[in-house]
Amino acid sequence: MLDLTLGKPGPERPLQVLCVGAHCDDIEIGCGGTIIELQKRYPHCLLHWLVLTSNETRRREALKSSRAFVHPSCRGETRICDLPDGLLPAHFAEVKTVFEQAKRTVEPDLILTHHAADLHQDHRLLSQVTWQTFRNHMIWEYEIPKYDGDLANPNLYVPLPTAVAQRKIALILQRFASQTSKSWFQAENLHSLMRIRGMEVRSVSGLAEAFHCRKLQCSFGGSLERPPRRQPAASTLGRADKISRRKADRTSAR
Ligand SMILES: [Zn+2]
Repeated sequence: MLDLTLGKPGPERPLQVLCVGAHCDDIEIGCGGTIIELQKRYPHCLLHWLVLTSNETRRREALKSSRAFVHPSCRGETRICDLPDGLLPAHFAEVKTVFEQAKRTVEPDLILTHHAADLHQDHRLLSQVTWQTFRNHMIWEYEIPKYDGDLANPNLYVPLPTAVAQRKIALILQRFASQTSKSWFQAENLHSLMRIRGMEVRSVSGLAEAFHCRKLQCSFGGSLERPPRRQPAASTLGRADKISRRKADRTSAR
């Protein structure tokens, strides 16, 4: 299969990636392997981390985990908010405010966020707000396996070497000790999904992470023509000004 790769954002600018998660472990579960791979391919990239819910314990875990997944030289902005787990739709205004602040702080080339059809209300809301906030960006929506059974048919795959997939699983199990009592928190679950996605994309290692990508721009690596220049606003206004001034002169002369 012919590979598509990410273009370079510019000679002086590192690739910037914004990782969005509703809960402290979502980013790692959904795209932890991709994050490790990105740093291997783009050693000067910057990874920004935005998590919307936490409590004291989970915040500590999330910070330690993000530090384990992201090399110090690739660390961008990290923000772990403390909105309540499961109740993000009831905190819509706060979520919007956090995203607007993020938009002013970071300039991501790629955003990794939740899938729009995810059945968890917090996940689904963040997917919507990501699209509402970032209007000219590449957005990949990751998968979170869960009780609800909402896995769909992804259309973008990142094959992962075995060592990367193993590292992802090991770090998640180590860093999120507070989740060990949850029935879904098992290495087999994390591995199984990567194995299925690896089979679907014929990954050499048999492992992959998968995403839903609604929009892709393809320019075949060439430079695009500049869009036609718009008429300067000042000259239009100037003309309208002159006309209205002439009308006003005529009225006052009567
Ligand atoms: Zn979650």
